[in-house]
Amino acid sequence: MNEINILGMFYFFIVYFLKRLNYYLGLISALLSVVFFFLKGVEVYVGAYAVLSSALIIIFSDKNDKNKKDKISEALEEKAKLEKVLNELKKETEVLLNYDKKNQNIYSIFNILSQAVDLSSLKSIEKYLNESLGAKTSLYIKSEEGFLPIYGFKFEDFGVKEVKEKDGKTVIPVSDGEVYCYFIIDSVDPKIKSEATDIIFEISPLIKRIYLFNKIDSLSLKDGLTGLYRRGIFNEKIDEEIVRARNFKHTLGLMMIDIDHFKHINDTYGHQAGDEILKGVARVIRSCVYETDFVARYGGEEFVVIMPRAERDGSFRKANFIRESVEKEKFKIGLVDIRVTISIGISYYPQDALNKSELIEKADKALYMAKESGRNRVVDYGNI
Ligand code: GH3
Ligand code: MG
Ligand code: MG
Repeated sequence: MNEINILGMFYFFIVYFLKRLNYYLGLISALLSVVFFFLKGVEVYVGAYAVLSSALIIIFSDKNDKNKKDKISEALEEKAKLEKVLNELKKETEVLLNYDKKNQNIYSIFNILSQAVDLSSLKSIEKYLNESLGAKTSLYIKSEEGFLPIYGFKFEDFGVKEVKEKDGKTVIPVSDGEVYCYFIIDSVDPKIKSEATDIIFEISPLIKRIYLFNKIDSLSLKDGLTGLYRRGIFNEKIDEEIVRARNFKHTLGLMMIDIDHFKHINDTYGHQAGDEILKGVARVIRSCVYETDFVARYGGEEFVVIMPRAERDGSFRKANFIRESVEKEKFKIGLVDIRVTISIGISYYPQDALNKSELIEKADKALYMAKESGRNRVVDYGNI
């Protein structure tokens, strides 16, 4: 068998590879297999074999390739379809998640508002409201001194009575006849505006409850935390007592009490523990004085005691008794016992001062001296 016959025997390989490169190249090479019949020195059966094998390669391998191609494109189509479905599902999930998040935020707002009693706790709704609306908000509540900022950005136009757009913001007044609260939304997007009005409408009874609670509290004679009289009532009471002392030629003692290092107590044990101690100290002071003495909370951790007809020596002893009683007391806060001390300054009418402001000023000066000279002590203005 010569080389040309061997080539004829394996010609189908050439057809196969050419066809893999390009279908038409394969087809042409398969047709060219006929040449083997006419080539010199080729056996007839080798020529027939070359033609037959080339035809078989074209027919069968073509079919396989087509199948392959069809399968790949089918798979690609399927993949594209699935991706589309997946994308739609993703979008739907995102919508659901956003919806869920929104609901959670609104739930948190309800939760905070239904438990809150003081205005400062309204601060905590800022985060949730902003998140749920996707815009910054600001809140103002009516107080005796006008509208009080609770949180958020500055706003000044408190004349607005209905929902209104102003300087790129939406102003939402909440009213019960007269406006007692303003929400301002940093957006005029109609969708955000309508969502904000809906939420605020829903929570307005809860806001009103807190607003009324505080209004009543500020109108009451006594301080909500300690149960002692408020500073305003003290101011009226001392006027009365000075007039009475003047008319009946009595003396009058004024004690100013301040808890030592109270900031440190708050910082160490927390504000709530601080509040408990304030209550406790108020109780101790109350229990140490006469029924006729007048005790008030003057400021944060400052108290005043008006002592009608007080003698210098007696009141000094009484002040020291209060100081020692507080020092001895263990204030139980949770599992810990906390001890605090107080400093006291005292002044007298008419020896140290003839009017209210002077009397307060001198008691304050004495208190300052008590602090300066080491705290946990009583200083009588007359001894400075
Ligand atoms: P000093 O011995 O000089 O009086 O120190 P101080 O830390 O007591 O004085 P300062 O006046 O610097 O701080 C008073 C602190 O009292 C600040 C404030 O955190 C706290 N305070 C005021 N009012 C309240 C209240 O109602 N509750 C609580 N928990 N803390 C209050
Ligand atoms: Mg103080
Ligand atoms: Mg203090």
